[in-house]
Amino acid sequence: MQLILFGAPGVGKGTQAKLLSNDLVIPHISTGDILRNAVKNKTEYGLKAKAIIDSGELVPDDIMGKIIECRLAEEDTLNGFILDGFPRTVAQAELLEKIFEEKNITNPKLVVIKSDDEIIINRLSNRRNCSQCGSIVNLLELEIKFECPHCGTKDSFVKREDDEEEVIRRRFKVYNAQTAPVLKFYEGRYEFLEVNGTQSVKQVSADIKKALGK
Ligand code: AMP
Repeated sequence: MQLILFGAPGVGKGTQAKLLSNDLVIPHISTGDILRNAVKNKTEYGLKAKAIIDSGELVPDDIMGKIIECRLAEEDTLNGFILDGFPRTVAQAELLEKIFEEKNITNPKLVVIKSDDEIIINRLSNRRNCSQCGSIVNLLELEIKFECPHCGTKDSFVKREDDEEEVIRRRFKVYNAQTAPVLKFYEGRYEFLEVNGTQSVKQVSADIKKALGK
């Protein structure tokens, strides 16, 4: 199964993609994670991308195109994949169509996670990553705010620089201007499966699986 997870920043695409990836045994491809790794490893495009990511803007389409072409050429994607954070512009969606054509992929599933801007802004401001195990947590949902519920490490939480409120608001503007039109591009091409992203992680996950017939 080829799945495109669509939705505003912070709506829960990464969290849901990880759960689905485990259940469906297909890789989770997050372009945000790929870029953050490149930044950490100081690769050529990582160095170019850092300031752009920190400002909440989009990394240029030519860089993103190369990243996704390379990733989708890997063998582990042959039985399917979950795209999280790609495509984010109509140009990226057009490139993805070409890749799908080459790979004879005719019926990708498009899952749209819907939410409310203010709810997401509050959620993102409280989002943290465990620097030990990589889990994504939300401080609002944790009883013990300094301990990772997944690996038990204390004081391991780090906040993404682009989760500061000002940057989050910038990311929303970018989303509405550049990424929302991608949905229009897909209208009439593929079926949209819509789920309500304001519910609990568990419920959103159950709704996605139901929509996918899993
Ligand atoms: P994410 O983790 O998906 O929220 O992505 C974090 C940041 O990485 C975004 O705000 C962009 O700066 C950059 N990024 C991730 N995916 C893309 C993409 N498909 N196109 C352009 N920039 C991207």
